[in-house]
Amino acid sequence: MTPEISIVIPVYNEEESLPQLFTELYPVMEKMQRNYEIILVNDGSRDKSFSLLYDFQKMHNKNVRVIDFNGNFGQHMAIMAAFSNVRGKYIITLDADLQNPPAEIPNLIQQMDDGHDVVGTYRENRHDPIFRKAASKIVNKITNSITGLHISDYGCMLRGYSRRIVDIIAHSDESTTFIPALGQKYAVNPIEIAVKHREREFGESKYSMFRLIRLNFDLMTSFSLSPLQWVTMSGIGISILSFILVAYMVVRRFVIGSEANGLFTLMAIQFFLTGISIMSLGIIGEYIGRIYKQIQKRPRFVIKKIWEENADEEDN
Ligand code: UDP
Ligand code: MG
Repeated sequence: MTPEISIVIPVYNEEESLPQLFTELYPVMEKMQRNYEIILVNDGSRDKSFSLLYDFQKMHNKNVRVIDFNGNFGQHMAIMAAFSNVRGKYIITLDADLQNPPAEIPNLIQQMDDGHDVVGTYRENRHDPIFRKAASKIVNKITNSITGLHISDYGCMLRGYSRRIVDIIAHSDESTTFIPALGQKYAVNPIEIAVKHREREFGESKYSMFRLIRLNFDLMTSFSLSPLQWVTMSGIGISILSFILVAYMVVRRFVIGSEANGLFTLMAIQFFLTGISIMSLGIIGEYIGRIYKQIQKRPRFVIKKIWEENADEEDN
């Protein structure tokens, strides 16, 4: 029987959260009385996650599929792999750590029944420190203006997509990407709804500050060239200003004669400009790095095995 709803969940070292996720998710899905499948992607977990997923799959053989990766390819690639394998008409993504309550799923399905092809969400009463929320607000604003998209909350992964959108995303051949932004880009009739948000109860966030910055660069570089254009524009602006400064200095040299004062001002300006140059090189480098990855044409993710109904035990 083809499922109508596909639930997609990326899993990376979530052994503490998984038991409760299963306990909460399963009744929600059963209660809707529609055909469904749950696709769990094990993104190279090093803890007991896989054996928990395996047991869950065996227990609910008809409804649950587990895609087991060869290593850690990141949250967005895990979702991408599931998108290439979904069977449902409506696809819902959510995190394994229960920060997105499964009880919200029927609300998203309702919106899709109403004809929306992408259902975005924003976190109501987000349970995070105040400075993180403030930082997100700024990041959301800047990202919207860079990408030209309108998403209120880039960090919320509880989202619904119609099969048409998921197929487009699965066929986009980018080696690094940001799924919600892709979905929004191709949406014809999107909507955003508020969802509840919980603190992470078990385990810890899989994103260090460094990984978060990397992820934001993925988002920025795959959806916009404007950072490159800023580099060019600021280069032009700085050249014009320094040309005026040089002209002014030359005139002063003739009028007043040589001066050694103002050395520190000059150094300050110099340091500032050096900072800008290094940053600009970095931005250009971010794009070049991604072009490099893209032309290598390595697989974006490697699947070890898909565990599903009738999957053969022996060939593993
Ligand atoms: N995740 C993943 N691969 C990774 C990092 C994270 O599959 O390399 C999964 C993780 O298990 C969780 C979801 O992506 O289900 C979101 O991760 P997390 O909760 O750590 O992110 P945060 O909520 O802190 O942004
Ligand atoms: Mg989380």
